[in-house]
Amino acid sequence: RPCDVKAIELLDDVFLAKGFEDIYYKKKREETVLVSLGCLQPEPSCFCSSWGIDPGRAPQADIMMADTGDAFLLSAQSEKGEKLLQATQSLLADTSQEFPEGKECSLQVEVEGLTEKLQKMFEHPVWEEICRKCINCGTCTYLCPTCHCFDILNRNRGEKGVKYRCYDSCMYKEYTLMAGGHNPRPTKKERVRQRFLHKLQYMPERYEKWGCVGCGRCLVKCPVTLDITRVINQLREVPIHD
Ligand code: SF4
Ligand code: SF4
Repeated sequence: RPCDVKAIELLDDVFLAKGFEDIYYKKKREETVLVSLGCLQPEPSCFCSSWGIDPGRAPQADIMMADTGDAFLLSAQSEKGEKLLQATQSLLADTSQEFPEGKECSLQVEVEGLTEKLQKMFEHPVWEEICRKCINCGTCTYLCPTCHCFDILNRNRGEKGVKYRCYDSCMYKEYTLMAGGHNPRPTKKERVRQRFLHKLQYMPERYEKWGCVGCGRCLVKCPVTLDITRVINQLREVPIHD
């Protein structure tokens, strides 16, 4: 989907830019052809338009697709995309049909000035209120296309040792637990605050990109409905004292 392609753009910044290059990520990206299916009718939980994403288009995808009901339209947008379409030509038919436009999302959030406001809100009491119902299950972070926290583990496999990287979540207290027992994010307040500040303040500061792409998955799947659009509205409305 176009929101996922936008999220991959952000992951490219995290894993390939700023002087750090992750060789494993780089290899996978080089071997990947991104095919995006445009959303002609966004779900009620989608709000990608609020982040400047067109639900019907993903300019960074190698191939753009649209479901017209009785067929899929495909259009190559890069050399990789052209090559894939050429290789699969026998399965495709030419058409002059125009790509349909995607509809705007009905769910919208106002994000203008949000990062600047959050820069003054690290110690704000509103985080106690926002975190109250979170059960730190981690569902939101595992579903999110921009989340990329990971752990590196060592395991014995008989005579051999294996070092591997796996998914992790900033919503778990073990994520920041140090060997000496100190934990800089000891309660759910710090962990929930981290999740929202990472997406809405730290990523825009570091990469000039939002860390949320409005896919809506966390809104739908969070067991306690801790809805990021409501959190954004709450953060915008709460008064701050300089
Ligand atoms: S899915 Fe909801 S309850 Fe679970 S960690 Fe995320 S915000 Fe908290
Ligand atoms: S809506 Fe939720 S899951 Fe989707 S990008 Fe934003 S924070 Fe991540």
